[in-house]
Amino acid sequence: MLDATSNTDLLINFTYILCAAMFIFGLKLLGHPGTARRGNLLSSLGMLLAIVVTLLDNSIVTFQWIAIAMLAGAVVGFFAARLVAMTDMPEMVSLLNGVGGLGSVFVAWATIQIGVALSTFVLLVTFLALLIGCVTFSGSLIAWAKLSERIPGRGITFTGQVIVNVLIVLAIIGIGYLFVARPETALEPDMVLYIALGLTLLFGVMLVLPIGGADMPVVISLLNSYSGLAACAAGFALQNNLLIVAGSLVGASGIILTNIMCKAMNRSLSNVLFSGFMPVTSSDMVIEGEVKAMSADDAYYVLEAAQSVVVIPGYGMAVAQAQHAMKELQTILEENGAEVAYAIHPVAGRMPGHMNVLLAEADVSYEHLFEMDDINKRIENFDVAMVIGANDVVNPAAREMKGSPIYGMPVINADLAKNVFVLKRGMASGFAGIDNPLFFKPNTHMIFGDAKETLGAIIRQFAD
Ligand code: NDP
Repeated sequence: MLDATSNTDLLINFTYILCAAMFIFGLKLLGHPGTARRGNLLSSLGMLLAIVVTLLDNSIVTFQWIAIAMLAGAVVGFFAARLVAMTDMPEMVSLLNGVGGLGSVFVAWATIQIGVALSTFVLLVTFLALLIGCVTFSGSLIAWAKLSERIPGRGITFTGQVIVNVLIVLAIIGIGYLFVARPETALEPDMVLYIALGLTLLFGVMLVLPIGGADMPVVISLLNSYSGLAACAAGFALQNNLLIVAGSLVGASGIILTNIMCKAMNRSLSNVLFSGFMPVTSSDMVIEGEVKAMSADDAYYVLEAAQSVVVIPGYGMAVAQAQHAMKELQTILEENGAEVAYAIHPVAGRMPGHMNVLLAEADVSYEHLFEMDDINKRIENFDVAMVIGANDVVNPAAREMKGSPIYGMPVINADLAKNVFVLKRGMASGFAGIDNPLFFKPNTHMIFGDAKETLGAIIRQFAD
């Protein structure tokens, strides 16, 4: 017969399997915009269940403390998610990754402090949790500082950087040996722990500092993967099966997303990590043609006659919060007999899925959203391509200019549509800091101004 302890163990492990299934189905549902909300809810419930059932093990701190911590975490999470502006979401994701890494560092720290003799395997995985957790934490803070422009977004490099990095790696290997093998040395275990913490935190900083702002999407999704790997290592240290499963899921999905992002930018991961993204100035590229401005009133006449319109949103649409106005114009155009499609580039905006989220917020149905490859096949059939606050993702230099830093990056070929309207405030470059020949093409008209105001002016023309 089973005693009470093994009954509890059985219940815990059974619930862990249930939680793991909820995470996996949650991830599956996250794969499509129509089911993503349900996926998010299912995974969150899985996590809540996981926390509650783990706490059934009474050897952890008192239930009062656990309740206080859960309440505090829930309040912070609730307000952070409610109050953050859509444009600041990438910074928030970056901070959350960092906190995930920090959590694993605390687990590693606690494992060491517990005072019992640990096996070499446990010491090894504890060191890995500490190493990956610290790199994730400090790397994510640097990514956050770059995205929020608290430090310069460009890659920060200095002479002798490679040598410094090699020395840091060698020192980490050395301290790792002292940490795991525990040979007789003058260094106390606590001192080894502090040195390991310092070195690994420094390594995270050194890893992200030289990477330019334009490559931050890849870095953030890579750090997300790291936070999963750190949790997985912490799971081995604690011998907690669910933490191992959840960490592996985050680690694997993060690396898959990283790969998708790299492909969308036509870069290899090593190229992103080890070569600075050097923006070129206009003098590096010879762009022919002239810029033609158009008023919103004149744009109305073309749109009124258009049979098909493709909308290409970018970061500027998020800044202007123009998605609701665009949805309103979409309804008007459709009532006028035109087909309206939205073309979504994988790295449009400042985070993966940024445009999908914005458009969903404005109730644009998923059937109207098309991926870059689908739309590029038929873009020349569209009467009008409306580029709303997008720049890098429609830059034909990626196709036409061999010297351009974005040469080879897949872009939406807006310039091949019959007419192109670019809605932006001025001639400023996009995130990659390079000029855009699209603005100088014979079939392009620039409609200068805030995208929301411009769309409002066009809508008013339809109403008159
Ligand atoms: P870009 O950053 O290339 O361009 C945005 C454009 O929006 C600017 O040129 C700006 O021009 C315009 N804009 C800003 N405010 C407004 C406004 N109120 N109304 C109208 N226009 C406005 O955006 P894309 O989406 O085309 O490209 C994304 C870039 O960001 C890529 O380089 C990508 O690699 C990078 N990136 C992507 C991430 C992701 O995960 N998606 C994360 C981090 C970076 P003006 O000032 O003249 O108005």
